[in-house]
Amino acid sequence: MVKAIRKFCSAVERTCFVQKPFNYDHHGDDWELASDVRCGKQQSPIAINRKKICLSKASKLHFLNYHKPLAGPLKFHNTGTTAKLYFSAVEDGTLPGICGCVLESVYQAVQMHFHWGSESSKGAEHTIDGVRHDGELHIVHKNCAYSTKSEAMCSPDGFVVLAILLRAVTKPKVEPVGLNKILQQVKQLQEFGSITTIKPQMKMNELFANIKTDEFFSYKGSLTTPPCVEAVNWFVFPKALEVGKKYLRHFWCLQDSYDKLVINNYRNLQDIHDRTVYFRSMM
Ligand SMILES: [Zn+2]
Repeated sequence: MVKAIRKFCSAVERTCFVQKPFNYDHHGDDWELASDVRCGKQQSPIAINRKKICLSKASKLHFLNYHKPLAGPLKFHNTGTTAKLYFSAVEDGTLPGICGCVLESVYQAVQMHFHWGSESSKGAEHTIDGVRHDGELHIVHKNCAYSTKSEAMCSPDGFVVLAILLRAVTKPKVEPVGLNKILQQVKQLQEFGSITTIKPQMKMNELFANIKTDEFFSYKGSLTTPPCVEAVNWFVFPKALEVGKKYLRHFWCLQDSYDKLVINNYRNLQDIHDRTVYFRSMM
């Protein structure tokens, strides 16, 4: 069975997962997607409505090596559609990851990237009770049961993405120290394709600042960028993280391969269909 899946995946890899360029001119409505994805019933992002959630009794998420400094240096890249940071192992060579809650496997942290708006618009992907925040950070984890990203893309349990909503303020009540180390470098990424490295030692759990990680919405969804495969367990933290506007505004100066500004890089909200959104509150 596993062999059959692998064979299928390597065929799919050759045909579907070749990354074609895309942009956010129509927030994803014009992306060329495979027909099963286009008609998919588990697409992301979604509008989360607190009146329609189901309370979850699942255990908490467990964060593995999130408290240890990453060995680095970490590569930070202007991909033309986002600013993406690739994680390294921690200093003893093991990888940061998550498990627990409803997850049946360990998921390894691979990369994180941002979605943002512009001077005059907000750019988070998920909305909560109709509110769209200024930006959204996605921490992407791959199921360790699959050796390649393409293999994970073929599987409904391929990825876990943690979504942290961002609110731009003049002075955050609690400075997100870890995130600031990264945001300070965004101004180095203005040109399409540029890469910078983050040298200061950073621990994954510094990214959360004062976000309570045992309280979250969760649902089954998709990647929000092509190929938009339905391979993601989403965990969305309800409280937005305050970040300095002086940092967030650097994103608005990033350029794509046509020298156009990368702004409002969010996909339009997708139909929830008959999916259940769970909410785990602190117990
Ligand atoms: Zn994303």
